[in-house]
Amino acid sequence: MTSFDPIPFRQHFPALTDAGCYLDSAATALKPLAVIEATEQFYRQSSGTVHRSQFAAAQQLTERYESARGQVARWLNAPDAQSIVWTKGTTEAINLVAQSWLRPRLQPGDEIVVSEAEHHANLVPWLMVARQTGATVVKWPIGRDRLPDISLLPSLLNARTRLLALGQMSNVTGGCPDLPAAVALAHACGAKVLIDGAQGVVHCPVDVQALDIDFYAFSAHKLYGPTGTGVLYGKAERLAEMTPWQGGGKMLTQVNFEGFTPQAVPWCFEAGTPNVAGVIGLSAALLWLKDIDGVAAERWSRDLAALAETRLAAALPGFESYRASGSSLLAFNVAGVHHSDIVTLLAESGVAIRAGQHCAQPLLAALGVNGCLRASFAPYNSLDDVDALVAAMTAAITILAD
Ligand code: PMP
Repeated sequence: MTSFDPIPFRQHFPALTDAGCYLDSAATALKPLAVIEATEQFYRQSSGTVHRSQFAAAQQLTERYESARGQVARWLNAPDAQSIVWTKGTTEAINLVAQSWLRPRLQPGDEIVVSEAEHHANLVPWLMVARQTGATVVKWPIGRDRLPDISLLPSLLNARTRLLALGQMSNVTGGCPDLPAAVALAHACGAKVLIDGAQGVVHCPVDVQALDIDFYAFSAHKLYGPTGTGVLYGKAERLAEMTPWQGGGKMLTQVNFEGFTPQAVPWCFEAGTPNVAGVIGLSAALLWLKDIDGVAAERWSRDLAALAETRLAAALPGFESYRASGSSLLAFNVAGVHHSDIVTLLAESGVAIRAGQHCAQPLLAALGVNGCLRASFAPYNSLDDVDALVAAMTAAITILAD
């Protein structure tokens, strides 16, 4: 085990007092005090909203809201704040690209390559746009290592490929595909690339310029921020090619009954009163993260997952792990026992993990299972959590195997 000390780190998270053994951080992370306090302070002390009113408090809020855009840009090493679009989350960001950028560019017979390991959020929007236009979604199968098989990618890309949609990190196995190789192959045949960073943004820092990614999406709530806030990064030329998706207040400069003139990028994609509290919370999360030793924290979570995997394998006959090596996510099954039965007993023991298909039905099908359990570790987890998981699993299997 590494020397990261989770005790002081845990003190940032008041929810740990009630959460018991929380091993569901891949679904959503607990929130540190810095985020809770920034959000509370906003609701207690701020007046007005952004981009609308002239009074001082509203103007200051607008400045704060817009400076958070620059903060996110720096986090991703995006060239400027204007390449950041606020969304509700990863799901909305991907749907925005599907409808605003891809849909007007798709002809019948065009292709979208999507890996078999994707979360439904990075599959269904492409299926929808393909159905709307007569295009085809092409499956990029996983290999024996449960990662999208890079050796197959060249044979799937061709002059009709408009987009490659790929997750930075699987929300089931925790596996990370070879992004530089995949992006280079896609660009070589003229396709653009969208990376779903919902999981990856938490575990592996990303440099959207070094990777030459066209679009990158993530959600604040997995990165210790609030729910209902997310980010779409787009290259300037890609965002300039997009047409506004939703119409409403503040996404235009002029409107009459003949039509409207859209605002500049990125504001033309942000119709309506935005989630100001969410953006302030995300900004607080990024500020807070700057003081955390991310490398040590990540190593600690990975070590806990590895330890749990080793101990469960030793304790439970029929234990099968789908964990990618070096991941803090531990997806697994126990032969002969249904994952739903296990998770119910674990919940009764106060151990919070997930069971089911994890919004990744094609991946589960490729793994040959109809569901699995997933314990996801974060730096606020401790060795006690591993003990609790192993004890609860052993007790559950004893009951269910009877
Ligand atoms: N992609 C991946 C890999 C995810 O894990 C998730 C969240 N489970 C999403 C996309 C969707 O994120 P959200 O629900 O926050 O939009």
